[in-house]
Amino acid sequence: MSHKHEENHIHEHHEHHDHHPLRREEEHAKSHHVHEHHDHQAMVEEYKRRFIFSAILTIPILLLSPSIQEFLNFKLVVPGQLYLLFILSSAVYLYGGWPFLTGLIDEIRKKMPGMRVLIGVAISTAYLYSGLIVFGFPGKPFFWELATLIDIMLLGHWIEMKSVLGASRALEEMVKLLPSTAHLIKNNSIIDVPVEELKPGDRVLVKPGEKIPVDGIVIDGHSSVNEAMLTGESKPVEKSPGDTVIAGSINGEGSLVVEVTKTGADTYLSQVIELVKKAQETRSKTQDLANKAAFLLTIIALSGGAITFTAWLFFRADIAFALERAVTVMVIACPHALGLAVPLVVAVSTSLAARNGFLIRQRDAFERARELQAVIFDKTGTLTKGEFGVTDIVTFSGNSNDVLKLAASLEAKSEHPIAQGIVRAAEKQSLVLEEVEEFRALPGRGVEGKINGKIIRVVSPGYLEENGLKDYIEKVRELLDQGKTVVFVLEDNTPIGAIALADMIREESREAINMLKKMGIRCIMLTGDNKSVAKWVSDELGLDEYYAEVLPHEKAEVVKKLQSRGLRVAMVGDGINDAPALVQADVGIAIGAGTDVAIESADIILVRNDPRDVATIIRLARKTYRKMMENLLWATGYNALALPLAAGILYSIGILLTPAMGAALMSLSTVIVAINARLLKL
Ligand code: ADP
Ligand code: MG
Repeated sequence: MSHKHEENHIHEHHEHHDHHPLRREEEHAKSHHVHEHHDHQAMVEEYKRRFIFSAILTIPILLLSPSIQEFLNFKLVVPGQLYLLFILSSAVYLYGGWPFLTGLIDEIRKKMPGMRVLIGVAISTAYLYSGLIVFGFPGKPFFWELATLIDIMLLGHWIEMKSVLGASRALEEMVKLLPSTAHLIKNNSIIDVPVEELKPGDRVLVKPGEKIPVDGIVIDGHSSVNEAMLTGESKPVEKSPGDTVIAGSINGEGSLVVEVTKTGADTYLSQVIELVKKAQETRSKTQDLANKAAFLLTIIALSGGAITFTAWLFFRADIAFALERAVTVMVIACPHALGLAVPLVVAVSTSLAARNGFLIRQRDAFERARELQAVIFDKTGTLTKGEFGVTDIVTFSGNSNDVLKLAASLEAKSEHPIAQGIVRAAEKQSLVLEEVEEFRALPGRGVEGKINGKIIRVVSPGYLEENGLKDYIEKVRELLDQGKTVVFVLEDNTPIGAIALADMIREESREAINMLKKMGIRCIMLTGDNKSVAKWVSDELGLDEYYAEVLPHEKAEVVKKLQSRGLRVAMVGDGINDAPALVQADVGIAIGAGTDVAIESADIILVRNDPRDVATIIRLARKTYRKMMENLLWATGYNALALPLAAGILYSIGILLTPAMGAALMSLSTVIVAINARLLKL
């Protein structure tokens, strides 16, 4: 165990220096993001300010308007009433309408007419027409309609911006998790230093109740640590020497001495933030659809407005009436809700995923996850614990301690779970390991190296088969039939013994498989281990299919083969040798604190070592998609129903919408969409 950490440590240290420029860039990107976030906040404030200003001016506008007076049955006449109305409305139009007017110019310049063009055209038409009337043009001005329309639009934007801000607030919360200083232990004294000054290898003290400032390994002390914000694991996790801790988690009752492995942008938390941010930026297929619909709706609204105007002018020859209908049509057809329908769901589902320990690296892969028909699991470390214990040692020549000693000397240089099991067994026997030269890993087969001038190999049964040593496999048949993993120790091409190891099936695997099968998904296992072990695990878990003795480079082939059967497949793995298969699969899922390579090749990373999360993520993908569709339906269906109403189609039976009512209805659809998105739950 200690050996593993040391190797990791050297590796990371190295990487740290190599990638320095990259790290800077990431840090830059992070601060940029925070900046953007503040801009967003500023916009919320701006809409609020403009709304309050306009709403206050709307009161005198309402009081001075003849039609309102008539409706409320009172009389208020002021000298120059119409001019006063014009001045007040001009202020509302210019100050309150400003974001829409600048937006209108912006969208036209970019040749992307959207809702700002619509609102801009609607309020400008109303304003200019009413202005003309003040200066002598015949007709009826609609100042109060204009003012209330702008009020409602501003209110809608304000609420909407706030809800969007709320959805991305989860990220902000995560940044806040990181403390800025740490207690550095140096020459037996403790000094407080900024976290940026820490280097891998430094030791820091974490006092009870404090946040852990860095990623690292516990060197001394016992405590329970709350990692809920990071992994979704609600119970505090016990930590003692040798365990890893993550920056941002909260220390419990004990104090811990932690050796730093990663700081700053390299920490797990920073990477989560990066991932979530990137996921939100990657374009979603559904979003493209929504944008297209929004563009179409804008065109429909503008032409709908024009048609409504001409039609009413033709039927009633009343410009004021015709204009009011046209303005209402444009307002109600605003693809406002449509523009938000998908992004809001994306924001909520990404942060929901992150809080539950799923990191989505590829948004479109996550969207594909809803259509999965089969899930392929790697065996070791995914369905099983990946903690091998040596159960039997068989000798063909020499004694069992020699077999174990030679094997352990080689395996001390390997990261494989089998290797760790063999090394632990040798440690238990207090065996002194031999010097190894020319060490080499034989991917999917084992390891080899020179000890005292002899070539020693620790290899799989498959290797024996390939090298004409099949007979030896029969000698361990009994062990294989028990579902054990057996490796052979060879000295200069002659087997001198075999070591049997047993792994344990994770309790969670059983449940995971049941959940997936209930969802109608085929469960398949892929392993480099021997057929007997594979069969045993497969029977235990009730898998639909398994592939055993698959060499690393063949794993991707198996995925391809399943795909050519017409299956949409996910691959779940944790090791280096799973990477090509993760890339080949429709959805690549890296489980647990797997190797960096596996994580780099995966579309989705499951932070916890829990295969049940595979089912959960598919469920989340399905729910997310359903929410998106619901929202799209709300956003478009709403417009489709309200549009004819706005055009005045039911005027003959006395149903007529004013522009402000149109605006209220439109804002309501936006609010419904926002609330619906926030209701996404697991
Ligand atoms: P998996 O990831 O499915 O466990 P691997 O490709 O890692 O499969 O390993 C396949 C087989 O190769 C193992 O079951 C074992 O027999 C052999 N093997 C791989 N690495 C080692 C090693 N370090 N020592 C001994 N045997 C190994
Ligand atoms: Mg593996």
